Amino acid sequence: MWFDKSKEEVIKELSVDTINGITSEEAAKRKEKYGANELTEKKGKSKLRLFFEQLNDPLIYILLVAAAISGILGETADAVIIAFVVVLNAVIGMVQESKAEKALEALKKLATPKAIVKRDGELKEIPSEDVVPGDIIVLDAGRYVPCDIRLIETANLKVEESALTGESVPVEKDAELILDSNGTALGDQKNMAFMSTLATYGRGSGVAVSTGMDTEIGKIAKMLENQEEDLTPLQKKLAELGKMLGIAALGICAVMFLVAIIQKRDVFEMFLTAISLAVAAIPEGLPAIVTIVLAMGVQKMIKKNAIVRKLPAVETLGAVNVICSDKTGTLTQNKMTVTRFYADNYLGNINTLKIDNPIHRLLLENLVLCNDATYSEDSKTGDPTEIALLEAGFKYNLIKADLDKKRTRVNEIPFESDRKLMTTVNEYDDKYYVMTKGATDNLIKLCNKAYINGEIVPITEEIKENITKASIAMSNDALRVLGAAFKTTESKDIEIDSLEKDLVFIGLVGMIDPPREEVKDSIAECKKSGIKTIMITGDHKNTAFAIAKELGIAEEESQAVFGAEIDKISDEELAKKVDNLRVFARVSPEHKVRIVKAFKANGNIVSMTGDGVNDAPSLKMADIGVAMGVTGTDVAKGASDMILTDDNFSTIVSAIKEGRNVFNNIKKSIVFLLSCNIGEILSLFFAILFGWPSPLKPVHLLWVNLITDSLPALSLGADPGDPDVMKEKPRDPNASLFAGGTGAFLILNGLLIGFLTLVAFVVGIKVYTGSTTLFPLVPKDIPEAAVTHAQTMAFVVLSVSQLFHALNLRHPSKSIFQVGVFTNKYLIGSILIGIFLQDVVITVPFFRNVFEVFDLLPRDWFLVGILSIVPLVVNEIAKIFIRARNK
Ligand code: ATP
Repeated sequence: MWFDKSKEEVIKELSVDTINGITSEEAAKRKEKYGANELTEKKGKSKLRLFFEQLNDPLIYILLVAAAISGILGETADAVIIAFVVVLNAVIGMVQESKAEKALEALKKLATPKAIVKRDGELKEIPSEDVVPGDIIVLDAGRYVPCDIRLIETANLKVEESALTGESVPVEKDAELILDSNGTALGDQKNMAFMSTLATYGRGSGVAVSTGMDTEIGKIAKMLENQEEDLTPLQKKLAELGKMLGIAALGICAVMFLVAIIQKRDVFEMFLTAISLAVAAIPEGLPAIVTIVLAMGVQKMIKKNAIVRKLPAVETLGAVNVICSDKTGTLTQNKMTVTRFYADNYLGNINTLKIDNPIHRLLLENLVLCNDATYSEDSKTGDPTEIALLEAGFKYNLIKADLDKKRTRVNEIPFESDRKLMTTVNEYDDKYYVMTKGATDNLIKLCNKAYINGEIVPITEEIKENITKASIAMSNDALRVLGAAFKTTESKDIEIDSLEKDLVFIGLVGMIDPPREEVKDSIAECKKSGIKTIMITGDHKNTAFAIAKELGIAEEESQAVFGAEIDKISDEELAKKVDNLRVFARVSPEHKVRIVKAFKANGNIVSMTGDGVNDAPSLKMADIGVAMGVTGTDVAKGASDMILTDDNFSTIVSAIKEGRNVFNNIKKSIVFLLSCNIGEILSLFFAILFGWPSPLKPVHLLWVNLITDSLPALSLGADPGDPDVMKEKPRDPNASLFAGGTGAFLILNGLLIGFLTLVAFVVGIKVYTGSTTLFPLVPKDIPEAAVTHAQTMAFVVLSVSQLFHALNLRHPSKSIFQVGVFTNKYLIGSILIGIFLQDVVITVPFFRNVFEVFDLLPRDWFLVGILSIVPLVVNEIAKIFIRARNK
């Protein structure tokens, strides 16, 4: 127990050096001894289990039983091949699913939080799994507590412990407390901070006392975050579709079987055919393919600096039509530089500041002291706004580290984006200076005096007007404006609530933050593709509008509003107006939630960026919550669907592009599989209906299913993105997968494939019976050998036409030559492999026997080749008309 000892005792007992922390070597040794600081997870499913899960399907049972019966009846080849195909199918399914599962695991591992520790005398940010007992840990607002910590310093630190105690109100921590060793519940251990809880306010530091599974949360073995493995919306839709298709396929098979019985065919043979057809026609591999394609999308996005935390997000990304983006750092570079200042009734370039003017000097001192960043020539840490202020001070020899020593900080109220203010209390010889800095409009409200002409005078309307004028002049030039105010007190024990009151206005500074270069193009690209870009900022409206105009986000001032203006209107009114607004200024995190709600109310799919603790609700509310990887807090990251590792707006746009491609690719796989299955069902169904011999044997169906459902379907999922994908309007998320002609494409191609298979069969019958008349297409009592020949031809056409048909799916309107035949090497590879395997089955005597097929003559090959290529030719011609119509 550590909470019943004083912090000095703890420091002594653990022999920690609070100034330098532990050395890296010691840390490595301790990691060896105590293990990594992580909670052990339950293992995923084993390969064997996945394999058996594939077989766990009533249809497969029936098929295996049927195979066994045919084995007993002497059809050993049939039995063996069915068993073989079933096993191979299960292996493919297993590989796909374990790949999908691995991808999901990898996804979980991305974005693990980091911890700030003192090592070798320096503060370092390290992966939290590397934290060891004895480390000195620094906590600040928005950070996950990486392990169990005995606090040794706290400055208004508040920690939200709901992950551990269920209590959602943050607990105020105090390092100085010594608690009763008996009966102090976890929630009351206020001198401790526990793993997996969240610092939401203030700062603090402490010693790591236990890590990994030894922590309180480790003991109850609850996960940091129970990432649910729900199906994605698309997978849910597909599961429903799959069920429907399954029922339909079973229905057709049943009807077929009945017809066959009425026709007095071989019952067992027909039963086997019907079951094989059902197995082949039900697209059981779809969910795994969807997961794999989504996961491949995730991998591609990582390369483009976007980490997607939840798989469904990839899908949703493709449908986003409103991007709400923070300004600072996302649209701009976040490289702030102070360029102007206003003090003592003078507005000018920062270079004209006179450090011997006490007002000018106090302005800079205020901005350097009321500041949590650090600045030296070779190392800068902290918020760029604050670094810029330190840099301005540095130029006038007001060095943060020196000034901090001279004017010790005794109290503080941290910066919050709601208040847009920050305050510190610093010791000035025999007095204390309350130093406040923040947004001009908020600050001015707290001032009743001003420091002008060397005197502190009551603030008049005229003075206020001058300040506002100076502030607006700077904002209009796209500068971020920050004001400074102070007051003196005799005692340091002054109530927190009365600190930010009755202040003396000192002055303003204005800083530039240039837009990111690439952002302008991305915004233009969004515009073309029907995506609206919305700027959301804590800055002043004028600053925001000036930058928005430069970037092409807004054209007229009427498109910009203050957060306070939306406070005055109802949610309904906001929803009515919101589609015409582009810039929201002086926004607090609560406004963000309302803005997202309003856009969503109008049916938009909204992405929202955020970085702070208070941004979590709006990130959760958005369809795609985007957290900043560099400046974002762990809280924001935890609430997000996607993290930008470069904080760049353009990355969101690339992710949307990738999301659109991923969605299109999934659709290609689905439509491909379904059209092929329709082809299989129809060819068999009509042949039976017409009273013909079955054009395909059960094993043929299983085989075709094997070579088309696996590699080609996956390769379509890996199709390289369409370069023109951003020229299209965003997808309507409610629209059916088969809208816009997709359904017709699917059915027509299914019909075509089925028809061609039957043509091959009929031609085979004609040729091998030596028939010279067209009718009847298939006469009665054909010799067995002729049927087998005809079946062989139908078998080859069914599989090879499907392989060629895969090329049709690469683009709904572009010719395969426009897309580039070889741009998807996987697909070309799978088609070649498919054709090769098909050839092996026909030409190698062993397989020929097993599959009960005949070797084809060159003229047969020629004919099946021509027939197989028909779908490609027909679709190419159809696409000429589609392109002409689209023009
Ligand atoms: P954006 O929303 O565009 O990313 P932001 O999140 O940086 O902007 P805030 O951080 O909320 O916006 O800042 C809003 C205002 O608060 C700024 O215009 C500035 O006046 C003030 N401000 C920003 N940082 C500080 C700080 N560290 N201390 C005091 N005031 C600050």
